[in-house]
Amino acid sequence: MSDPVCTFSALEQIIRERIKARGAITVAEYMDMALGHEQYGYYMNRDPFGEHGDFTTAPEICQIFGELIGAWCAAVWQSLGSRPMMLMELGGGRGTLMTDLLRATRHVHGFHEALTIVMVDASPFLRRFQRAVLHGMHPRIHWQANLEALPDLPLLCIANEFFDALPIRQYAKTLTGLRERLVAIDPHTNELTFVMHDMGIKLVKGGGHSTETVHDSQIIESCPAMRHIATHLAHHMQRHGGAGLFIDYGYRGESRGNTLQAIKTHGFWPVLKSPGEADITAHVAFDDLAHTFEEAGLASTSITTQGAFLQSIGGVMRLGHLVAETHKEEQKKQLRTGFERLVSPQYMGELFKVLGVCSNGQFHLPGFADT
Ligand code: SAH
Repeated sequence: MSDPVCTFSALEQIIRERIKARGAITVAEYMDMALGHEQYGYYMNRDPFGEHGDFTTAPEICQIFGELIGAWCAAVWQSLGSRPMMLMELGGGRGTLMTDLLRATRHVHGFHEALTIVMVDASPFLRRFQRAVLHGMHPRIHWQANLEALPDLPLLCIANEFFDALPIRQYAKTLTGLRERLVAIDPHTNELTFVMHDMGIKLVKGGGHSTETVHDSQIIESCPAMRHIATHLAHHMQRHGGAGLFIDYGYRGESRGNTLQAIKTHGFWPVLKSPGEADITAHVAFDDLAHTFEEAGLASTSITTQGAFLQSIGGVMRLGHLVAETHKEEQKKQLRTGFERLVSPQYMGELFKVLGVCSNGQFHLPGFADT
């Protein structure tokens, strides 16, 4: 059956061709194409952020977010010996966090001079955007699409809402065996659809046919790209020293079932509808992230919430300063509501988690109760 012309976007057409040629694809392959296809991927050619975009992130909500992370970085840089260091941001979006970080730390003696800044982003569009925004803010800012060929320097790495954009695979243990959730074309409706592929691994002897329904709660997720990147960062920090701060939408403890979701114009969107037109994410399994770093030799903090983290590194005080500095009532209000959105449990305060890692287990990373 040939698809009628014009019905599907170019990217959906490419995905369908691949499925027809090679069979159903993994959720990771689907996510990878929907977000990262070099021509039509969601991140590749647009600015997805803000009121007129699809979603809003913490640095876009309130400047205090980037400013506090700046203070965190400066403190950790001092603890690591105030040496020349690479400051790297993964998935910097519009460059807002880095702008706020650099502005807030410009008076920290010797800090900017010691830094070589590396912005890692897969999106050529967002790299250009960041270049324009950060122009003139620091003499040594480099851009790259991935983690290859990093300079031989101690590494201070930060990332907000980066790991949740990496492709995941989904599995389910059923009575009849292990299955992987794949994306196929429904032969009846001709729509993209999820299927549970029998991996041929029997968990119970004499198990029957693979027709039973798999519920969302049974799904187990894994993120090979996250492990790969975390291991790469850890090896660099092992060799040269360093620390990292990772903030993301995610959970502690065991798998929470199916967390794959798509967002378009600030609302949920069917994951398989119009690939490339909506953001697709999965919640970050923070225990898995922490274990990956630990296995590669780093010390990790306990996993805390964004609300607790920002409060413990001086959020309220920073808010007080900024509110006192401005005379405009409107701006005071904006700062208060913005900060509230970052820390309040009703908004981002508890859904977002924070993990710190360090090459030296002896030392205290600010913002975490246990280190
Ligand atoms: N940190 C920003 C943006 C978060 S959106 C903020 O908080 O506003 C995710 C960012 O990660 C985007 O900039 C996107 O282009 C980038 N990204 C997604 N997948 C990536 C990958 N595999 N490698 C590098 N960057 C990636």
